[in-house]
Amino acid sequence: MFKKVLIANRGEIALRILRACRELGIPTVAVHSTADETAMHVRLADESVCIGPPPSKKSYLNMHEIMAACEITGADAIHPGYGFLSENAKFAEVLEAHDITFIGPSAEHIRIMGDKIEAKATARRLGIPVVPGSEGGVTDEETAKRVAADIGYPVIIKAAAGGGGRGMKVARNEAEMSQAFHTARSEAGSAFGDDSVYIEKYLAKPRHIEVQVMGDGKGGGIHLGERDCSLQRRHQKVWEEAPSPVLGEADRQKIGQICAKAVQGLGYSGAGTVEFLWEDGEFYFIEMNTRLQVEHPVTEMITRIDLVNEQLRVAAGDGLSVTQEDVIFSGHAIECRINAEHPETFIPSPGKISYYHPPGGLGVRVDSGVYQGYSIPPHYDSLIGKLIVHARTREECLRRLHRALDEFVVDGIETTLPLFRDLVTNPDIEAGNYDIHWLEKYLAARQEA
Ligand code: ADP
Repeated sequence: MFKKVLIANRGEIALRILRACRELGIPTVAVHSTADETAMHVRLADESVCIGPPPSKKSYLNMHEIMAACEITGADAIHPGYGFLSENAKFAEVLEAHDITFIGPSAEHIRIMGDKIEAKATARRLGIPVVPGSEGGVTDEETAKRVAADIGYPVIIKAAAGGGGRGMKVARNEAEMSQAFHTARSEAGSAFGDDSVYIEKYLAKPRHIEVQVMGDGKGGGIHLGERDCSLQRRHQKVWEEAPSPVLGEADRQKIGQICAKAVQGLGYSGAGTVEFLWEDGEFYFIEMNTRLQVEHPVTEMITRIDLVNEQLRVAAGDGLSVTQEDVIFSGHAIECRINAEHPETFIPSPGKISYYHPPGGLGVRVDSGVYQGYSIPPHYDSLIGKLIVHARTREECLRRLHRALDEFVVDGIETTLPLFRDLVTNPDIEAGNYDIHWLEKYLAARQEA
């Protein structure tokens, strides 16, 4: 195992990784910007190093400073968490060249999956069902129109280098195509520095269902079931659950096995998520994330497997502690992403938390980096914590979530907790009857009322 792990992240995920390290007896190093001096991950780590001023580019994305922190502290591995440098192939490469272990997949696999055109081609080759669309990138309007006519409108134009739900444009007919295509290209160019785009069939009312996988890097790999992340706002997940309310056991096993086989075929190492849109009983691959996901706890709750512990084991060369047969699903879990944002306008609400009381009791987990008296800096993502609830059935899980939400108090700032209190008693949510557009429609209707 590692001598010392440096955690190149902040907030709840830095704490999550720290906890896994501590249970394995591995000392941890926190890195932080000057805005995060009082953050919980800094307080709890064995050592901490300030790596720069508040802007992420100068701190959490600053490879040079992070490498220097490794050098000073003697850390022999880095866990990148999610976001920041977690899907940066160059970072993985630099670490390798300096004999520091990147706790994640190979630079090569990050690169392949980071280019969505290549990722899709790879998925197709590995036997994963993909969304119908262009074979590769599309560079001119004529080709774009031809491809769209072939697959049929509506279509979605997506940036090859896209991420975070950005860089996508829908065209409903040929008349809309010209503008959508050029806007998508120029937005992709300015947002990602790469204007390659590709075209896909636009699915009207799909669910977002993703499969958690783990590879041992030696040709072994397993799946840990699916998560349903269909409740989204601006293509960003808001509420995630496992198992999916719409998937039967046979379909679960089938898609799980396809993904596990793909991981084995790739020789993939560590945690990954194969994301699909699901419509009328069919799965369509959209992308693979080569890192730990925000929503990983729902999988942990129904499998009782610590995914960060497995990541550390695999990266250290110890292999997975479980086989496919050991993965037994039990009960239902739901996660709510709690943001420091106004629950109706979604305007960020940084500032000081004057009173904080998280919920507790059977089946309740709160992954958060905040505490009473803590001031949320304005420089970063507004996710301040996740409430994860586990119960024997979905119905029991919803009731427990309702109870836990009622107990949760965060004063001094605005949070999205009131939104979840509304959602948890909504008949469509109770029935599990929602697609990826449900939440946007719900919010728009509420706005009008
Ligand atoms: P990102 O990497 O930016 O998250 P994804 O490819 O994962 O991009 O897509 C994000 C979201 O965009 C999906 O969860 C879905 O809501 C929507 N989306 C993507 N592709 C399609 C499609 N072909 N049809 C309909 N919606 C789509």
